[in-house]
Amino acid sequence: MIGSPDVIVIGSGVVGAMCAMQLAESGLAVTVVEEGFGGGGSTGAAMGHIVVMDDSAAQRDLAAHSRARWGEILPTLPVDPSYDQCGTMWLAADDEELAIAGARAAAYTAAGVGAEVIDAHSLAALEPALRPGLAGALLVPGDGVCYPPAAARGLLMRAQAAGATLLQGTAASITTGRVVMADGSKLHAGAIVIAAGIGSNRLIPALPIVPRKGHLIITNRRPGMVRHQLVELGYLASAHGMGAASVAFNVQPRPGGQLLVGSSRELVGFDASINRELCGRMLTRAISMLPDLAAAAVWRTWTGFRPATPDSLPLIGKWLPVDGVWIAAGHEGLGITMAPGTADMIVASIMGTPAPLDIAPFDPCRAMPAHEAFA
Ligand SMILES: Cc1cc2nc3c(=O)[nH]c(=O)nc-3n(C[C@H](O)[C@H](O)[C@H](O)COP(=O)(O)OP(=O)(O)OC[C@H]3O[C@@H](n4cnc5c(N)ncnc54)[C@H](O)[C@@H]3O)c2cc1C
Repeated sequence: MIGSPDVIVIGSGVVGAMCAMQLAESGLAVTVVEEGFGGGGSTGAAMGHIVVMDDSAAQRDLAAHSRARWGEILPTLPVDPSYDQCGTMWLAADDEELAIAGARAAAYTAAGVGAEVIDAHSLAALEPALRPGLAGALLVPGDGVCYPPAAARGLLMRAQAAGATLLQGTAASITTGRVVMADGSKLHAGAIVIAAGIGSNRLIPALPIVPRKGHLIITNRRPGMVRHQLVELGYLASAHGMGAASVAFNVQPRPGGQLLVGSSRELVGFDASINRELCGRMLTRAISMLPDLAAAAVWRTWTGFRPATPDSLPLIGKWLPVDGVWIAAGHEGLGITMAPGTADMIVASIMGTPAPLDIAPFDPCRAMPAHEAFA
């Protein structure tokens, strides 16, 4: 490889830290540039659900590959990432939704992802705190949850153990082989990977990424009340649409017994303030599904920004307009899940080795649907 270091990775959220670790462990000299605290961006605000979603075949395949890779990586991290393979229960409110669950189970199974449909009786036995009257659920037992900032920290530590260097500072601009820092200093490398999340288009304004705000609420401890990550089947519509503010039921049991209640989506720029009306809608929706939640105390509420793209797929691969630049960004609400497969593809592309997945659907230069949020 050219230059020293071989690769500069800009950003040390879960995606940048994963890329840095895999590049360094492949034998490359890596410098990571981070302006804040590694894992303190979108990664630190996330729910940590490692989930195979199937909005498209490309999304499902990247998520499924990544979930399997997390299974190898998480036990090796030098920081406890609080992993729990609790599975995802996608809840069907009525027979129409149960038919959707059945179709999704068949598609998952055909793709090699374990999934089964649970009837109303079994659902009530597995999750007794849910309201009566649900038609059943789609159970994906291989999904799990982790604590994302700890995972990102562990990845960065492993990268450093493999020789990567962390440079604290802001990357102000990039050209082929060169990063100019905000303090005027210059770094040189053969390859530059932009993994700066919602900050990526500060460096390359043409990247179609906008911040998509989300709220999360954590309650006091209710151990045993919920056993799986519970999500309503309508969640995919909320995640995919780029319309007005939306709320979908999504509750996660934390290892310490607290319940993490999600989630909202809004396009309001970088306004990080708490939208009480939206939090109210999230809690009302959650209590309609889990009536006993009404007795829980809200301990903390926060917001974060998902790096969203117009077609809901991340931007992974070479940025052709600037030679020697790769993009690993724009993962919206699946960046924790998809970090391992993203890094696998970045490593393969930089080193010229075969990739474990078809990288074409994630080409950062691909044509995108028009949307006013990206104008
Ligand atoms: C409310 C919420 C819930 C979520 N839940 C989940 C979930 O359950 N499962 C899931 O898979 N995903 C989830 N996500 C999505 C996930 O958090 C993101 O997709 C993921 O964290 C993106 O990681 P990243 O490394 O690309 O970005 P970030 O974590 O934002 O990291 C980017 C880093 O780059 C640094 N940086 C930026 N610009 C520069 C610069 N110019 N110079 C130097 N450093 C720079 C930043 O300081 C930051 O540390 C959720 C997100 C939100 C907001």
